[in-house]
Amino acid sequence: MSAEAAKKLVTPTPQKEIDRVKEWINTEDYKEKNFARTSLVINPAHACQPLGAQMVATAFEGSLPFVHGSQGCASYFRSTFSRHYREPAAATCDAMTEDGAVFGGQNNLFEGLENAYALYKPKMMPVYTTCMPEVIGDDLTAFIKNAKQKGHIPEELPAPYANTPSFNGTHIHGYDAMLRSILQNLTEGQSVEGKCTGKLNIIPGFDGNVGNLREYKRICDLMDIPYTMLADASDIFDSGCDGEYKLYAGGTKLEDAAESINGKATIALQKYSTANTMKFIDAEYTGAKEVLPMPFGVKKTDELILKLAELFDKEVPEELKAERARAVDAMTDAHQYLHGKKFAVFGDPDYVIGIISFLLEMGAHPYHVLVSRATKKVKKELEALLETSPYGEGCTVYVNKDLWHMRSLLVTDPVDGMIGDTHGKWAARDAGIPLFRIGFPIIDRVNLHRSPVVGYQGAVNMLTMIANKFLDIKDETCEDQWFEMMR
Ligand code: SF4
Repeated sequence: MSAEAAKKLVTPTPQKEIDRVKEWINTEDYKEKNFARTSLVINPAHACQPLGAQMVATAFEGSLPFVHGSQGCASYFRSTFSRHYREPAAATCDAMTEDGAVFGGQNNLFEGLENAYALYKPKMMPVYTTCMPEVIGDDLTAFIKNAKQKGHIPEELPAPYANTPSFNGTHIHGYDAMLRSILQNLTEGQSVEGKCTGKLNIIPGFDGNVGNLREYKRICDLMDIPYTMLADASDIFDSGCDGEYKLYAGGTKLEDAAESINGKATIALQKYSTANTMKFIDAEYTGAKEVLPMPFGVKKTDELILKLAELFDKEVPEELKAERARAVDAMTDAHQYLHGKKFAVFGDPDYVIGIISFLLEMGAHPYHVLVSRATKKVKKELEALLETSPYGEGCTVYVNKDLWHMRSLLVTDPVDGMIGDTHGKWAARDAGIPLFRIGFPIIDRVNLHRSPVVGYQGAVNMLTMIANKFLDIKDETCEDQWFEMMR
């Protein structure tokens, strides 16, 4: 068969029709039809529950994540982490297939746990599910108890587990369920009346930016506050290249996590990815408990630092004050390039709240805001935040919509730029606007996961990225007489 014949389509579409549809999908008429869509999701702005669970399951010392379910799902989680962090993402899976779907996955789990324990000698094996065992109703409580009783894994090996069906919720809910389960498991029987470790438990939430995690730790160090990060994936997903592969390259120490129940205070820096974990902590942990917004921009970073100072009776160190002043200076210098610009923002609720706060501080307009699989509560909180500033006027918040909806918004009611993860690149390209990559996953640019977007330094990083891109566009597109040395 010639190459020409191989290319011939069964039902060829005339070029005229292709051009017509190409134009039509940019119209209000199409947008209306697109928004009336109910039974189909196109390019969702979220990942699976078990992917979120895996991020937590990875983030403890000697911990081997264990997927109970399909091999294909496990490959998707691992490859997404590997593409985002450009690091190996170790995890095992009991590879359920048709027989598991019919007879239940207990035998797969027994064999998988036994092999994984024998081969990789983990200190903990958190187990979480994909859709298949959830659909057939596998009973993880009984399965793991049986696995221990039958000697497939040692009785004393922590094997916390979480049900993480992806037909319900997103990666942030899987993160929450797994973190709660791990903390429940590790802190059991560890609470001692009157004991206080004097430490802060800091919970970053689902955050693919290891630079953010390091920034929280740096702030605590500068303020001389002892802390345990629950959970800390920074050294695992951002390990150095020293010629030796380490399967367990860091993470929160299990004994520190166990002791966290007797901490002086616990701060969660994401509200929506830690809701259930914080319910458990509220009920069981000693010390103060706070849920703060992610410290995007100056105001929200101030909030975190002042709260730390209050809880631990510390002065704000001069170094942080100087950093703040430099951030304000950098914002003033860059203000003219962001002021009045319109943005589309999408992502996880806690990230979106933070990004909007930052934009409002810069006098930029968040204009289309989209969060997938979110509740009315999220929508209300976002709207209330937008109402705090004149720059929030005219913005619409969309929940339970996807990035194909976002595309319709961008082409019918244009903005200057979009902020979100790599999945937004098609919509941004079709709309002819830049995509500023903040969120998870970022799989088409390098090292952005190492550059913090929280804290004073994060504000400087973000405004530098955004303002310089607008200046690049100006230089690349302006007519000769406007091509200036100075911008
Ligand atoms: S939606 Fe369910 S079946 Fe699909 S990859 Fe996620 S966990 Fe697996």
